[in-house]
Amino acid sequence: MKRILLLGASGSIGQQTLDVISSNSEHFELVAFSVGEKVDTVATIIRLHPSVKYICIKHREYIDILQKQNPDIIFFSGDEGLLKIVKKAPYDLVVNALVGFSGFPPTIAALKKKATICLANKESLVVGGEIVNRLLKKGYGKIYPIDSEHVALAKCLSQAKKDQVKKLILTASGGAFRTYRLEQLSDVKAEDALKHPTWQMGAKITIDSATMMNKGFEIIEAHYLFGYGLEDIEVLMHDESHVHSLVKLEDDSFLADISHPDMRLPITYALFEGQTKFECARIKSLKQLDNYHFHDFDAAKYPCVALAKEALKMGGTALAVLNAANEVAVYAFLENRIPFLSIAKIIAKELNYVKVKRQTIRNVITSDRLTRLHLRKVIGN
Ligand code: MG
Repeated sequence: MKRILLLGASGSIGQQTLDVISSNSEHFELVAFSVGEKVDTVATIIRLHPSVKYICIKHREYIDILQKQNPDIIFFSGDEGLLKIVKKAPYDLVVNALVGFSGFPPTIAALKKKATICLANKESLVVGGEIVNRLLKKGYGKIYPIDSEHVALAKCLSQAKKDQVKKLILTASGGAFRTYRLEQLSDVKAEDALKHPTWQMGAKITIDSATMMNKGFEIIEAHYLFGYGLEDIEVLMHDESHVHSLVKLEDDSFLADISHPDMRLPITYALFEGQTKFECARIKSLKQLDNYHFHDFDAAKYPCVALAKEALKMGGTALAVLNAANEVAVYAFLENRIPFLSIAKIIAKELNYVKVKRQTIRNVITSDRLTRLHLRKVIGN
């Protein structure tokens, strides 16, 4: 029985992780979790998972009432609380399904505890990939990605020898505006972007899909997870989100991972530490391959991908700046304070200012804060 700490239990990945835990209750039990704004989900999670002993909530003011209702559970709150629950709760696996930069310090804290992390928070690898890899190299913990493309790549790479591999190919749906021409993007609104064609996801990652910064982040993620250079990682547009990624071999043949788009598949793969145990996401017949569509990636329409690559080339703290600028810009767009096309422009400007420093925990946190402070002056709160 593996004991699980789930960070970000009320979000889209968090809820699907709870599903996977419940349907594999002979293998996993939830012992600790965190929620953000949706504090009303706490009671339901405790009822369905009576093994829970530690909880972290975002806002302190709810602790007293929750503590009265649940005297046997230990409560924490805020960003400090996230670090405490990682340090104090006893668990075998951490699922980090937090959104944005706030997921990075808990990832580092868990690695320092030599924990096995199922990582849905891709920002941890974006802002701190160099730090994470230094820790992994020294024997601190393990990481299994919860990202459909990277699970696909891991599966394909496990079938090939390193010297056979020519390219990693990340597939991309193109997000909510994939059928729009560049000039139509100037007046799209947040509510239009939130309709993703093939995946149901949280608001932040849905906008990241529409700008394709999500794919930029995934290139960075693939670089740190699998050790391939930028020149070896490509993006291919694929409408149906059934081919989750591909590996091109030296003889120009391809390995691909194909299944229905269902995040419970990569979640299960990560929880079982690299084993495929998920039954219901299989494609029933290869006749469906007839209806798969692939297109070239359009760099002019999606400038965020080039910005992500640029930040990766700069390295160090440039990646924290990339992420912070993206987060601030995406939330400003979600609140209708900036137009869609300004997201990439804001990030490009911030990257222009960067004086790159070595990637240390302190430098990453400082770069994140300074970028947010600066952007608050530029675009307001
Ligand atoms: Mg993905």
